[in-house]
Amino acid sequence: MNYQLTETQELIQHTFRNFVDKEVKPQAERLDLEKEFPTEIFKKVANLGFYGMRYPDEAGGTGADILSYCIAVAELARGSASVAAACSMQSLMATYFLYRFGDAEIRENYFAKALTGEKIGTICMTEPDAGSDLMNVKTSAKVVEDGFILSGQKIWITSAPVANFMTVLSRTDNYEKLSIFFVPTHLDGVIIGRNIDKLGVRASVTSEVSFDNVKLPRNYLLGKIGEANKYLIEILAEIRVMTAAIAFGIATAAYQDALEYAKSRIQFGKPIGKFQLVQEKFADMAVKLETSKQMIYHAARLCDLGLPRMKEAAIVKLYVSECANSICDEASRVMASYGYAMEYPMQRYLRDARFTLIGGGTNEILKVNIAKELGL
Ligand SMILES: Cc1cc2nc3c(=O)[nH]c(=O)nc-3n(C[C@H](O)[C@H](O)[C@H](O)COP(=O)(O)OP(=O)(O)OC[C@H]3O[C@@H](n4cnc5c(N)ncnc54)[C@H](O)[C@@H]3O)c2cc1C
Repeated sequence: MNYQLTETQELIQHTFRNFVDKEVKPQAERLDLEKEFPTEIFKKVANLGFYGMRYPDEAGGTGADILSYCIAVAELARGSASVAAACSMQSLMATYFLYRFGDAEIRENYFAKALTGEKIGTICMTEPDAGSDLMNVKTSAKVVEDGFILSGQKIWITSAPVANFMTVLSRTDNYEKLSIFFVPTHLDGVIIGRNIDKLGVRASVTSEVSFDNVKLPRNYLLGKIGEANKYLIEILAEIRVMTAAIAFGIATAAYQDALEYAKSRIQFGKPIGKFQLVQEKFADMAVKLETSKQMIYHAARLCDLGLPRMKEAAIVKLYVSECANSICDEASRVMASYGYAMEYPMQRYLRDARFTLIGGGTNEILKVNIAKELGL
């Protein structure tokens, strides 16, 4: 019994933990090696209701709280950060704007089907010249009589090679500020470019996308022209807490593998876990894991209560992702050569953890944001 969690939250943790041990962990190495979108697991995750966790019952979701969602994300990441990255894209950034602004057509044909895993979505914000500086995007929608004509280039788009729809950050030719558009990928002029080979989260496929005069009807503008920044901020804290949950899941896996190893690896006639220098590593890792967990729970609860949370979300993403990278490093040292061998998952944890330094905003940008929140 975990006094910090409700019965429902514990049940969700138990369900995802069992699922990950049975269905995800045994596949994780193969997925990483093959660098392919995890189609089968993605559908099974849909059957657990994961893509609808954040949405209310009346929208076809399960109306869980953000803390439950983060607990589920962390469990998925414990098995495979690639699976966690692909699935959390679907459940949060890919579907949020459809839920919030989609008309009946978009809601029925895309949002509802995304919750069941029948359709796959993503968000296209980053461009070759607009990464952290998102307000500098060049993609532009020309306003025409019956809608818009979209042109531009995006990069680093998660799940793009398998996506049925995208939400796209773009300017319009009549307004300085950015807007958000719904773009089904079957439309003429949507071009999925080369896959980007990556260091980590390799089974969460990422590619370039370009839009070559894509005609969009008027209802594909999501929300109002020029309001993108305001809408993005609505989910920014959640994206950051969710990214922290991915980092926590990876770190937990690395810590658990190293702990098991330290108990069974015998050198100088005793388990290496009996040496004080090794024990110190575990004490440090345990402190980082526990503080990470408490910070995620705290920030997720702020989201659930609708309390101010921008600073806390930036702090938790920054802290937990740095801790995760340090835990993976220490855990790898405990396993020495076996932490360096491609046949053990430790090397994957190390590679995957790097992603969490970037996703949800680079940690340098988060430091800038935290300083701003402090009034500097
Ligand atoms: C695996 C993966 C999946 C991704 N999926 C998606 C996706 O689905 N959709 C999407 O739109 N994007 C996606 N991205 C892109 C990601 O959001 C961007 O890479 C990220 O925002 C950083 O942009 P950049 O890589 O262009 O770095 P840059 O912005 O060029 O930054 C380079 C360096 O400069 C630093 N820097 C920049 N500006 C400042 C400043 N003002 N002060 C201090 N330091 C600064 C940064 O911290 C960093 O260290 C993904 C990225 C990865 C790695």
